[in-house]
Amino acid sequence: MIDNVVIVGGGIAGVGTAAALRSGGFVGDITLVDAGEFPYDRPPLSKEFLAGTKQLADIALQPPQWYDEHKIRLITNTRVTAVRPSTGEVELFEGTALPADCVVLATGGRAARPPIPGSQDVHVLRTATDAEKLRAALQPGARLLVVGAGLIGAEVASTAVDLDCEVVLVDPVRPPLAHAVGAEIAAWLHGLHALRGVVTVRSGLESLHDTPSGIEAHLTATDKPREFDVVVLGVGMVPETALAEAAGLEVDRGIIVDRTQTTSNPAVLAVGDPARVRDDGILLRRAEHWEAAQHDGQRAAATVLGTPPPAETAPWFWTDRHHVHVEVVGDMAAAERTALRGTIGAPKFSAFGLRNGHVVGAVAVNDSTAVRAARRLIDRRIAVDTARLADPSIDLRQLLRG
Ligand SMILES: Cc1cc2nc3c(=O)[nH]c(=O)nc-3n(C[C@H](O)[C@H](O)[C@H](O)COP(=O)(O)OP(=O)(O)OC[C@H]3O[C@@H](n4cnc5c(N)ncnc54)[C@H](O)[C@@H]3O)c2cc1C
Repeated sequence: MIDNVVIVGGGIAGVGTAAALRSGGFVGDITLVDAGEFPYDRPPLSKEFLAGTKQLADIALQPPQWYDEHKIRLITNTRVTAVRPSTGEVELFEGTALPADCVVLATGGRAARPPIPGSQDVHVLRTATDAEKLRAALQPGARLLVVGAGLIGAEVASTAVDLDCEVVLVDPVRPPLAHAVGAEIAAWLHGLHALRGVVTVRSGLESLHDTPSGIEAHLTATDKPREFDVVVLGVGMVPETALAEAAGLEVDRGIIVDRTQTTSNPAVLAVGDPARVRDDGILLRRAEHWEAAQHDGQRAAATVLGTPPPAETAPWFWTDRHHVHVEVVGDMAAAERTALRGTIGAPKFSAFGLRNGHVVGAVAVNDSTAVRAARRLIDRRIAVDTARLADPSIDLRQLLRG
């Protein structure tokens, strides 16, 4: 019988766990500890928050009174420094010990900083503080170098154009995101940068040097260095696993969990960005997306409650850049072929990845309906006729009938 749950980390995974515990009928104590001022949402950090159109209070994951209303003890501005499943305790930075029959590690991650000479003090983007610092630097006319053209790098480039910065985006991979959205759509998405004045360079970053007038960047692909006022690294995240390692849990580029989010110690669960599932002996990739973190929380709550886990559904994420809304569901990389619905570059279009007559993934631009339909087609394993799928005049709901 679990009476006390301590959740370490107040991102969507941690807050999602607390919410799902209460909605599932958990009556024991829930304590949520977060290092920040209050639990806030991360996706806006590269979008509206960076643009200055939303402030910190606008991106709170829950209104302040929600925690009291749900009898969730929220402890902020401090860190959990140790998790001790053997004694059923969690220790805070101040030395306070909290009783915990079950600990949920929802510790997220930090922005990766590869060992590029001169890059130790340049901007990264993971926290609201990072975003505030970057926002202050993105003055009109600022010369910005964005390193990494994946999801976050591309969003920062897009927001910086809106802020009238001069943007150069470097990435050695061309086109970025091909594995997630397919090569053709990835190329189109990457091409949007140039249409909005972003200079894209296929290159890595070799080193950075401070000069009296800025930061000189040496790129691997060009001999001539280029000068910038602001540099931001958008090269991925590192899962926060230190507490898990110190507690003796199994860690391998993520905290290893099973399908119930249970770690190698049954009294500790892990959810969200740092959790890495081992399924049938195979280590899966960490998801690193918002909805996946929320679903982890719902599964962890079911584990605590001893109730059936929520139904599995195809993974989904979104990204916004240059005023287009992109959603991806399932696994486009698993597709043998693609059915395009509409025309790439039209205001709204989608592409469906198919394998053995079934949809395995989809990507949609400004078309949430297509993604919702694709998700149902994937989840229910409905066989589809490719020609009908690719015909925009056919309502996708018809295909859901099989
Ligand atoms: C800039 C940005 C934009 C993004 N945009 C999108 C998007 O458009 N679409 C999408 O699907 N996903 C997006 N993501 C990814 C998504 O936000 C993450 O997958 C999600 O936030 C993961 O949630 P989490 O709860 O696992 O971790 P986090 O949100 O990182 O939360 C972890 C929390 O744990 C706290 N913590 C860590 N260690 C301790 C400790 N020892 N004691 C106390 N507290 C601790 C941290 O302070 C943090 O608040 C974006 C991410 C970023 C950074």
